[in-house]
Amino acid sequence: MNGNVQADDATTSEIATSFLLRACADLGYDDTTTRLLQLADREIRVEIPLWRADGSLAVYHAYRVQHDDARGPFKGGLRFHPSVDMEDVRGLAILMTLKTALVDVPFGGAKGGINCDPSELSRRELEQLTRRFTERLHRELGPNRDIAAPDLGTDAQVMAWITNEYAKIYGHTPAVATGKPIALGGSLGRDEATGRGLVTVLAAWAAASGEPLAGRTAAVQGFGNVGMHAAEALVTAGVRVVAVSDHAGGTFARDGLDPASLGQHRDAHATLATFPGGEPITNPDLLALDCDLLVPAALGGCITEENVADVAAGTVVEGANAPVTPAAHDALVARGVRVIPDLLASAGGVIVSYFEWVQNLQRMSWTLDDVRSRASARLERATATVVERSDDRGIDLRRAAYQIAVERLREAVFAAGP
Ligand code: NAD
Repeated sequence: MNGNVQADDATTSEIATSFLLRACADLGYDDTTTRLLQLADREIRVEIPLWRADGSLAVYHAYRVQHDDARGPFKGGLRFHPSVDMEDVRGLAILMTLKTALVDVPFGGAKGGINCDPSELSRRELEQLTRRFTERLHRELGPNRDIAAPDLGTDAQVMAWITNEYAKIYGHTPAVATGKPIALGGSLGRDEATGRGLVTVLAAWAAASGEPLAGRTAAVQGFGNVGMHAAEALVTAGVRVVAVSDHAGGTFARDGLDPASLGQHRDAHATLATFPGGEPITNPDLLALDCDLLVPAALGGCITEENVADVAAGTVVEGANAPVTPAAHDALVARGVRVIPDLLASAGGVIVSYFEWVQNLQRMSWTLDDVRSRASARLERATATVVERSDDRGIDLRRAAYQIAVERLREAVFAAGP
């Protein structure tokens, strides 16, 4: 859980499971079907010993949960963070299965991670840890089995180490991971895909609601891959980004912030709080900021029963996975706050991961324009489907998104033969 905000004790697994069970109940599924859709196909835990640079031996816990592969190979990110545990990964794997179903890419869902603090490890230690993780798990991975991707605390370099280690056993197999460096078969547009996709979804939803985006204000929590690219795309769409934060604090400027300058400042000073173009702001204050759009793009469980009353934004757009607990979600909806759910708002990354996998399998590379336009078309289609279900049934967007994803999953599971 996010250490900078108050948090109730809903785990990622409880959050994802709770929304999934609601959808199963809405759709009238019996207990056995519900159980089948909820439980993971496989849960793996391995221990990874690592000789540290100071000569000491450390042991890390690593996890991979393969939730469901009825619709295609397991697919999901790898998270390096001290909060990673089986419960966390289990919930994130459910979200991946439902996300791939909602945006209709031919993948199932998985998630993995190592309980470690990458900021305490040297580059060499991180490489060793990643290679040993791949060594331990290679039998479970593969382009037609389970495909890795970056997530919190991991990046293109980590995917490069996984791909290289896997190649030592199976030969050149770039499609075993996505989000790789371009030089190793990565796709153009993968780095920006989740943040940019979030704004594509937001714009499509705003157009359907007759509420243009230009001129609105936004606060973004998290300034990593998702938060930074989302901030850039928001500014391009004419939105004023008035606050951004990361784990070390944030910065606020009523007249708007320039994401490129923020990125340079963060890289040079390892904090946003001292950005000269803004005033310092804490994470709890950012979540409570009076603005139109709130984009949580860091850890899960940051909007809870305890702090939901402080949220002043009219729309919450979930860049992070499971940032809002079920109790907080219900409180937001009851107050008329619109929540664009993670299954939809943060699906741009897995769509471009799918494109990367396709390009690798075909030994092709697409142009950036091609990647962007194909990704936008898929996200706009998914948004229209969710908005239509929400309008037709008079339900909130999350309920609509979960219902659609769960229906598709059930259809595939039973077609394959449980
Ligand atoms: P990242 O590691 O690139 O960035 C994470 C950001 O969150 C950093 O700025 C970090 O400082 C900040 N952060 C960490 N702890 C914080 C805290 N306690 N309070 C405030 N900020 C904090 O990770 P990312 O890839 O941008 O992922 C962010 C979220 O988006 C995660 O929930 C992830 O699961 C989700 N997500 C990522 C992708 C992707 O393609 N990378 C796709 C879908 C969903």
